[in-house]
Amino acid sequence: MIRVGINGYGTIGKRVADAVRAQPDMEVCGVGKVRPDYVAVNAAEAGYPLYAIDGEYAAQFHEAAIEVAGTVDELVAESDVMIDATPAGIGAENRPLYERHDTPALFQGGEDATVAEVSFNSRANFEEAADADYARVVSCNTTGLSRLVAPLSETCGIEKVRATLVRRGGDPDQTSRGPINDVLPDPVTIPSHHGPDVQTVFPELSVETIGLTVPTTMMHVHAVNVTLESEPDDEAEIRDLLAAEDRILLIPGYANMDGTGALKDMALDAGRPRGDIWENAVWEESVTLSGRDLYCLQAIHQESDVVPENVDAVRALTGHLSGAESRALTNETLGIGF
Ligand code: NAD
Repeated sequence: MIRVGINGYGTIGKRVADAVRAQPDMEVCGVGKVRPDYVAVNAAEAGYPLYAIDGEYAAQFHEAAIEVAGTVDELVAESDVMIDATPAGIGAENRPLYERHDTPALFQGGEDATVAEVSFNSRANFEEAADADYARVVSCNTTGLSRLVAPLSETCGIEKVRATLVRRGGDPDQTSRGPINDVLPDPVTIPSHHGPDVQTVFPELSVETIGLTVPTTMMHVHAVNVTLESEPDDEAEIRDLLAAEDRILLIPGYANMDGTGALKDMALDAGRPRGDIWENAVWEESVTLSGRDLYCLQAIHQESDVVPENVDAVRALTGHLSGAESRALTNETLGIGF
């Protein structure tokens, strides 16, 4: 059993905790939580031991009559692997804590790539994390692009990727995010930082991205153009290629899935926890070829697509399963693929 501690129990951390708990080869040692809020209450109800970031914060939990098992320092000492899911920038500050205990750790995509030896995407570079003590699971957008790029690059070769990222304004609990009624070039400079982030997984890839932010909490949508090195026979070849990918969901035309609202509705109807969509959702009808130019539209659920990647990354660091074995186990336990 791999004993996993989770530090930072927000949008990503709580989902990762549930996913880790579902694995037959892992257990959750506990979760690091800052405040005794409703999320802490739910975590305690779910049976996760809570660890305060220090003794001062632990006092706040005592005042709210929420039991704490100790401090994050103790959680790190008890864990075989730490998953840091704190806000962007805090992970880097936490790295010395993990180093002090000699505990391997995963960081999230909000951190600078320099936080860890390897930027990780399970489909693209699982094996590169095998000798690492620290890995960064890349962001939701980079995960989505990496999953699409990997099979295309392996079969046809890629001359260049161009992607326009229509990004959600915030997550449902982020009341301070926006815009409320606007469309923002974000960033206004071109290319955006997302392309270089994809290059942390595919160093040789030519990729340029443009970012916009819009008033929704639902999902990101990517409009992608990939210039392939060799021309596929037809669009069906590309559709079959994408359909064979375990974490790409091809949305058929008959499904009448006209947007991200319908996708989320489907996930809730299907009984997915929190309405999560762990896969890239590619609209099948958008897959279009013009010579060597491939176009498609995909939706990325920012709150959950990195969750299976974190689970696989734990196995990559501990080295007890191959990438294919880990992905199969993660997919089966979470119910990935509708
Ligand atoms: P979040 O704000 O929802 O959750 C972070 C949690 O960490 C909060 O509960 C916060 O109280 C807690 N925290 C703050 N400081 C802490 C500390 N010192 N020790 C322990 N806990 C602390 O953030 P999130 O959206 O879950 O993002 C976490 C990471 O995942 C970031 O790097 C982010 O860029 C990345 N990420 C986020 C998304 C997304 O869309 N939400 C998608 C992919 C990756």
